[in-house]
Amino acid sequence: MSVPVRESSVPRGNVNIAVALFTLVLIAALWSAVILGHQVERDAVIAAATRQNANLAVAYEEHVVRSLKGLDGVLRFTRHEYQRLERRTNIARYVEEGAIDGSLFDILSVVDELGNIVVSSKPIAPTSYADRAFFRMQQQSSEDKLYISRPVLGRVSDTWQVPLSRKIIKPDGSFGGVIVLSVDPGYFVRFYQKVDVGAQGLLVLAGLDGIDRARRVGTAVSFGNDMSGSSLLQEQKKNAAGEFFGESDVDGVARLISYRTLPDFPLVVAVGSAEQEVLAQFRYSRNRDYWLAILASTVILAFAAMLLVTLSRQRRASVALATSEARFRAAFEQAAIGIVHTSLDRRYLQVNQKFCDMLGYAREELLGKPANDLTYPEDRETESTYRQQLLSGAADSVAAEKRYMRKDGSVIWVNRTVSLVRDPRGQPLYFLRVVEDITERKRLEAELRELAITDMLTGLPNRRAFMNRLEEEHARMQRFDTQQAAVLMLDLDHFKRINDSCGHPAGDAVLRQVAARIREEIRRVDMCGRIGGEEFAILLAGANAETAREFAERLSWKIADTTVSYEGRDLAVTVSIGIAVMQADDENADRALLRADAALYRAKEAGRDRVEVIA
Ligand code: GH3
Ligand code: MG
Ligand code: MG
Repeated sequence: MSVPVRESSVPRGNVNIAVALFTLVLIAALWSAVILGHQVERDAVIAAATRQNANLAVAYEEHVVRSLKGLDGVLRFTRHEYQRLERRTNIARYVEEGAIDGSLFDILSVVDELGNIVVSSKPIAPTSYADRAFFRMQQQSSEDKLYISRPVLGRVSDTWQVPLSRKIIKPDGSFGGVIVLSVDPGYFVRFYQKVDVGAQGLLVLAGLDGIDRARRVGTAVSFGNDMSGSSLLQEQKKNAAGEFFGESDVDGVARLISYRTLPDFPLVVAVGSAEQEVLAQFRYSRNRDYWLAILASTVILAFAAMLLVTLSRQRRASVALATSEARFRAAFEQAAIGIVHTSLDRRYLQVNQKFCDMLGYAREELLGKPANDLTYPEDRETESTYRQQLLSGAADSVAAEKRYMRKDGSVIWVNRTVSLVRDPRGQPLYFLRVVEDITERKRLEAELRELAITDMLTGLPNRRAFMNRLEEEHARMQRFDTQQAAVLMLDLDHFKRINDSCGHPAGDAVLRQVAARIREEIRRVDMCGRIGGEEFAILLAGANAETAREFAERLSWKIADTTVSYEGRDLAVTVSIGIAVMQADDENADRALLRADAALYRAKEAGRDRVEVIA
């Protein structure tokens, strides 16, 4: 049987899609927040680093300009002295006396117009600088200008030096040589050692001629690198100062660079911080955030998956519940037996159609009605006993036969089983009754019972029924002592002849006729039975020998007076009757019957159609 099951009102597909969408939106929102947050944070970190670099570049520029001016001052002072004292100029003494700061340079020399060193801060062998770039530059220059040359390997010091020079102009205006001092390239960047620009941080002093004068990356100092193709110099061509992001030609490191062109010198200072270092902390926290976001996404997905699984389980459970509910309904409604739910105070809560049909009521008439109203009055007490047994837990269910009164007043027999339905905690909810109509069975049983004690031919009680009754009577006599009763044995005379002459069916008709006569004659309190082929017994309650004889004679007369017409012949029969009085002190009921039988025998002996009494 297929049972229609009502689906839940929200289609399950929609719920799944809603959960999936919500999950995706949640994850998308999470990641957007993380990524946007990172962009903002990254911009802020870069802005801060750029600002710091710009500030450093300003300070660095000031430092370089101050240093250069200091060194230029030394050059101009020396030139002035040389123009006054010529070769008597004693630089060592100026240094000694503190007129010039000897720590600023490695060597300070005066070179004559031919390029030979004529005065020097250090005692040196005769040396020519005629081929040096700074010399030739100053020789060709028309201006009195500080030249800051590219780093060269010092001829005197044998170390790398940056020569700073100014030319000497003779009183006649001709070229008179050069004052030159050489500075350790590291000088320009060492000052900044104090400033931590990071392991990959850059500090550079570059000439606009494309060669750097000093460069420091972390703590490593270098110089003389060709920077002509560098982004720094390209940027510098566009703007005198600024910042940019670029990858270094020299070491390939990507940096945020702030630079400034010196106002009075063909030099540019730049401060750079390695992108990797600037963003290290940011990247660390970004990676951590990514992991957290991945974790959160996984948790959200797992949660959503769990939710979907739970929802689908719930849905399956509710469909299963609805199915079983529908099956139960169908079973309840279509059952061939009555099914009833009654409340704990025994009112009808639910009844099925079969039950209604059994009792002849409409469902509406039954619901709410006390179940007792329909119970046959004699059965009501038993019903409430059963109810107590169930409520106390003494029994799980009780089954018994009982009677109901139908709406039309008739009584039906049912076999009903009652059980108490409890909730999961054991609290009683309602009574469940299963009711089977057994009226027909009861009728058949009664019929069978009747058949078992009735003689089929005459309709009189049979031998067994009669004997039972006789025993009951005997028992009663024994109980009350005063009571008495007479027992009659009656036998048809020469009955064989009827059978022989007219046939067995005619004999049967005579037997029925005799039975009818006896039944007519006896009182309600008496009883008769057919106890043999053509033998009848009668119990006359309360009768003594005399009244029994009167009865017997009247009866035999009536029987003899009756003829039975059978197939055109009138059949008549006489009877012999033996009477005995049943005594309370008889051993048993049989005794009286035996005495009656003996009396009957005597009647037969005495010629038949007569009554004999044995007191
Ligand atoms: P008596 O009693 O006067 O001595 O003579 P009887 O002919 O009646 O003899 P008995 O009592 O010995 O025979 C009984 C007969 O009754 C025998 C049998 O054929 C007949 N009989 C017994 N039961 C039935 C019955 O149910 N129907 C018919 N038609 N005859 C029966
Ligand atoms: Mg007989
Ligand atoms: Mg007989």
